[in-house]
Amino acid sequence: MSDFRSVGRNGIQNADIRVSPQQNNASLGISPSIMGSPERSGRKLRAAVLGATGVVGQRFVRRLANHPDFELVAIAASERSVGKAYRDACSWHLDSEAYAGRGDMIVQACSPNAFDADLVFSALDTEPAREIEPAFAAAGAFVFSNASTYRMDEDVPLLIPELNAAHLGIIERQRANRGWPGAIVTNPNCTTVVLASALAPLERAFGIEAVMMTSMQAISGAGYPGVSALDIAGNVIPYIRNEEPKVESEADKILGRLEGAGLDAAQVPAPFPISATCTRVPVNEGHTITVSVRLKGNPSVDQVEEAFRTFVPDTAGLNLHSAPDRFIVLSDNPDRPQPRRDVEADGGMRITIGRVRPCPVLGIKFVALGHNTERGAAGASVLNAELALAKEVLHWAS
Ligand code: NAP
Repeated sequence: MSDFRSVGRNGIQNADIRVSPQQNNASLGISPSIMGSPERSGRKLRAAVLGATGVVGQRFVRRLANHPDFELVAIAASERSVGKAYRDACSWHLDSEAYAGRGDMIVQACSPNAFDADLVFSALDTEPAREIEPAFAAAGAFVFSNASTYRMDEDVPLLIPELNAAHLGIIERQRANRGWPGAIVTNPNCTTVVLASALAPLERAFGIEAVMMTSMQAISGAGYPGVSALDIAGNVIPYIRNEEPKVESEADKILGRLEGAGLDAAQVPAPFPISATCTRVPVNEGHTITVSVRLKGNPSVDQVEEAFRTFVPDTAGLNLHSAPDRFIVLSDNPDRPQPRRDVEADGGMRITIGRVRPCPVLGIKFVALGHNTERGAAGASVLNAELALAKEVLHWAS
């Protein structure tokens, strides 16, 4: 492995991506935009999955098994699984081909000494992520993380590419603060992603004054084996540990703005209060939320629906592989969105909104739905990596 440093045309100091001599030589002169185009380059960055045996990790493995820009070179998990073939380390929970055809891969330790990779996708729990993710960043890797551990740190981007792509600009400051050549880039909690995505068009069009939200969260959000069937079957559990503070703080960070640039960059959160109630319901996939919102200028239902319909994501024109064809879809069917009927649309990367109507307390209310383990986890992280590549924050040697 050899390390290199480069500076992107967007002015952001790029990662020291560790590239094998073979790749390094072969990739000379290949610009990131060329790299992202399969017909112009068959080369791929080497990717690993940390926590590959879990609910989110398996989705990462499936997404990376045939990715145009990233090649899955290693899967890693806890000591319990290390040294086992992937197929022996866990049971496969997804409907597609078992183990995405990678059942023979041997599970590695979650250590940068265990394998060579240019970027790692982390599906680790909060505590193991605390030491493991910085170790990879210190070794020069880009870490795209699902864990909540570093999401709210002032020098870590908390990304939804369609909403706040510019927040990648905090990475230069992160590197200076932490003294590492790699980077940690996070995606939000699986409920936050639905809320922030639904609020962004309203914040841009009108400005938000206050939000109240109640979630109905799928069982898969609790990992595997997760919630006992005896607890959740035919039931609603009105408490998810640590969830509500995450939703209330993360959405404001995402909808805030990046001020300054380079070492002076700062992430300034959106100023409005959010009150969240989070519940677990007997649904397999898909977090549904009900939202009441007070907007500046008291817009009508028609104006709010127009804001949802006409929202232009930051990713427009970037042609990111994992981006949905339509990011936000407004349903005019009075009994949608429903998790069973809507959650898999667009590879699970779409946010579906419906039932926009007057709220006698805050002005406007509606229902929104998103896929918790794709839009809220694996798909989100992979899309973050694709954005970093497209924005030339992550790329090949030049
Ligand atoms: P999970 O099913 O419980 O999987 C946890 C994974 O972490 C397993 O691969 C496990 O490996 C590994 N692991 C546990 N302890 C470890 C250690 N000490 N060292 C190395 N690896 C360790 O959890 P999950 O639902 O996939 O969630 C993973 C992360 O994504 C969490 O941070 C979660 O908060 C976040 N997230 C989840 C969702 C969701 O909807 N599920 C959505 C957004 C974010 P072994 O099998 O070897 O034990």
